[in-house]
Amino acid sequence: MKLASRVQALTPSSTLAITAKAKELKAQGHDIIGLGAGEPDFNTPKHIIDAAYNSMLEGHTKYTPSAGLPKLKEEIAAKLKRDQGINYQMSEIMVGSGAKHVLYTLFQAILDEGDEVIVPIPYWVSYPEQVKLAGGIPVYVEGKEENDFKLTREQLEESITAKTKAIVINSPSNPTGMIYSEEELRTIGEVCLENDVLIVSDEIYEKLLYGGAVHVSIASLSPELKQQTILINGVSKSHSMTGWRIGYAAGEEAIIKAMTNLASHSTSNPTTTAQYGAIAAYSGPQDEVEQMRAAFEERLNIIHQKLVEIPGITCLKPQGAFYLFPNVKKAVELTGYHSVDSFVEALLEEALVAVVPGSGFGADDYIRLSYATSLDQLKTAVERIHKFVNAKM
Ligand code: PLP
Repeated sequence: MKLASRVQALTPSSTLAITAKAKELKAQGHDIIGLGAGEPDFNTPKHIIDAAYNSMLEGHTKYTPSAGLPKLKEEIAAKLKRDQGINYQMSEIMVGSGAKHVLYTLFQAILDEGDEVIVPIPYWVSYPEQVKLAGGIPVYVEGKEENDFKLTREQLEESITAKTKAIVINSPSNPTGMIYSEEELRTIGEVCLENDVLIVSDEIYEKLLYGGAVHVSIASLSPELKQQTILINGVSKSHSMTGWRIGYAAGEEAIIKAMTNLASHSTSNPTTTAQYGAIAAYSGPQDEVEQMRAAFEERLNIIHQKLVEIPGITCLKPQGAFYLFPNVKKAVELTGYHSVDSFVEALLEEALVAVVPGSGFGADDYIRLSYATSLDQLKTAVERIHKFVNAKM
């Protein structure tokens, strides 16, 4: 059967491709260290698991409202007030099956055929595909390494056309770990307000900050910016709940209502049990969130130092998330490979370390390493990469 053109045009996820190859080699008995993961390596805190379990025993095993349980929306509103200082009404919040699906629903709700969405490079792999699936056109703008991979006012102004509907801002960023400062966000906000561009603010890595970095939500900067922004967040990365699939959007009521209508015909509602877990995540103790963050920071400090000792590798020090995004252009040249993709393939086959090539994030000279794995494994992985480069030079 001929498949729909929309799926034929989909770019397969580079992250998944490398993970599949790493799994295959592992199954053959090779001692592979995978640094491709996009999820914390800790279990979900026990009080969250208990709350979800108990909710089922108490009979909460049925459908919920499409936008999520009122109690969960209350907890999310309280969290957004507490952490970001923003007041949201219940009608301005919708809960979905993970931030990824919430973003998918958002693009379906706001884009018409040919509408443009500004997607800064390097980008999280799903933004361009989700925009295209909604009939939109991703307009790529390269965040330069010398500007910490962030967009400038000039770049943003030049990329806006009559068809621009939205821009995606992901701070802290996957894959770079960079953070937009309040001043930078004010500049972006100003341009977006002047041109009526909706700001999609993906804040999923909000809780993972290092070196004293501070997260600011662009929606918190003024009432106008709150209205111009759809804030996206969830419990996946903050509470190590990737498998639970709970994310949310907060913003203009009309958009939230449209998204809720869409969700009512696709998922009906996010999994009830997972919603009870998310209530506990936001209403319960937050000390494990901080413990996980501190563990990531310790790893980052050790591994970043070791990584930049490798000939031909440079790497800005991330301020958030749990990825390193080194520039390996020189290392690829020094080792005689013709592309980062072939360098990455050889790293996997010969050094037994799986990393993700930057091409999947729109940045060909880079690789992405996740430090969501034990410090021992990380140290060994970086030593292997170092030896591999030395041996090939
Ligand atoms: N946004 C970014 C930047 C991410 O890296 C991810 C997950 O990798 C998501 C959103 C999706 O998170 P969720 O697990 O809530 O779907």
